[in-house]
Amino acid sequence: MSKILEVKDLHVSFKTYKGEVKAVRGVDFHLNKGETIAIVGESGCGKSVTSQTIMRLIPNPPGVIKQGEIIFEGTDLTKASEKQMEKIRGSEISMIFQDPMTSLNPTLTIGTQIMEGLIKHQKLDKKTAREKAIEMLRLVGIPSPESRLDQYPHQFSGGMRQRAMIAIALACQPKVLIADEPTTALDVTIQAQIIDLMKALQEKTGTSIILITHDLGVVADIADRVVVMYAGKVVESGKLEEIFYQPKHPYTWGLLGSMPRLDLSRDQELLPIMGTPPNLLDPPQGCPFAARCQHAMSICTQEMPELDEVSSTHQVACWLQHPMAPEVKPPTAAVG
Ligand code: SF4
Ligand code: MG
Repeated sequence: MSKILEVKDLHVSFKTYKGEVKAVRGVDFHLNKGETIAIVGESGCGKSVTSQTIMRLIPNPPGVIKQGEIIFEGTDLTKASEKQMEKIRGSEISMIFQDPMTSLNPTLTIGTQIMEGLIKHQKLDKKTAREKAIEMLRLVGIPSPESRLDQYPHQFSGGMRQRAMIAIALACQPKVLIADEPTTALDVTIQAQIIDLMKALQEKTGTSIILITHDLGVVADIADRVVVMYAGKVVESGKLEEIFYQPKHPYTWGLLGSMPRLDLSRDQELLPIMGTPPNLLDPPQGCPFAARCQHAMSICTQEMPELDEVSSTHQVACWLQHPMAPEVKPPTAAVG
């Protein structure tokens, strides 16, 4: 499989009046053509910052790319000019957000917003763009698209707005789609429909997808591979089965343990992970999860564990992988 996007040793910080928040601290992952990866972790782990950095949507100041590369088809996006990025955004790499109201323009009709990219990037004339926009709305399952085209975002329901945003994002057939919590604001039935829609569109268009989410149910449904982030770092990554059935990092165990499961009876409580992530103004020198980890050893607070290979597709950054470490089994609740 060939790589379409590769993030290498990415560091992103935000300057604040309190100091420098090191939001992303050396992140590595790649996306293959046609696959879906999920980036998971609690809010503040750097998953959204990473995806916004790929799109170069981090406002500078206060945000700054301190180090690293984002290679998209041979071009390092961290060094691309704003002009180059304007060409790439929407046509080569598109993004959909959690809340369509923040990214849809309330003053323009849905049709105008779909047609914009088609006219700008694909140089379609207005009439052809309009036909294509109707086709896109139909594709994302919006009934009577001809009349819906001239309506404004506020005339659409939440689920319909999300569909419209997907139509805008996919109109130019981007090679990469970044979906940041695309279903979080929606009820469960609509969530499932949107995920099915993304899967169907991927089959049709071959788009590679980066899905940012904290919802492991959604991950299980759609991802080929999973990247687990914590405190601005990748702590584990692997194929879906590796992460769900052979998780190695105590934080991943925690995430899986806090996942709602159909086989839990009502009186079995979900276990949230106790404690809070470290302050990224002053991140710990050792493992960032140490303060919350039941298995922390003395080395954990002293030295940061490196990402090590468990297999050619599975990596983990945890001192428990060290040959001298005591053997610790994941809690049974985590694997199932
Ligand atoms: Fe826990 Fe240590 Fe592994 Fe960090 S390195 S997750 S503190 S065992
Ligand atoms: Mg976020």
